[in-house]
Amino acid sequence: MPFYDLRCKDCGKEFNIRASIKERENKEIECPSCHSRELEAVFKSVNIISSSRSDSGGYSCSSGCCGGSCGF
Ligand SMILES: [Zn+2]
Repeated sequence: MPFYDLRCKDCGKEFNIRASIKERENKEIECPSCHSRELEAVFKSVNIISSSRSDSGGYSCSSGCCGGSCGF
């Protein structure tokens, strides 16, 4: 069974628990602190790679700082 890092929405406690996917989907997992079932997943190693960088090119530095090659 997989482990889940979960956070209780009611008391804010974060805990790691082993449960089946079925238990997770059916919200059968309870907060060990207050027994709430309002839990959300915690992702501790999120690596968001920004894809918003524009590489359209074709424009030059307006201030002339680089002779037109810096992209600004
Ligand atoms: Zn709780």
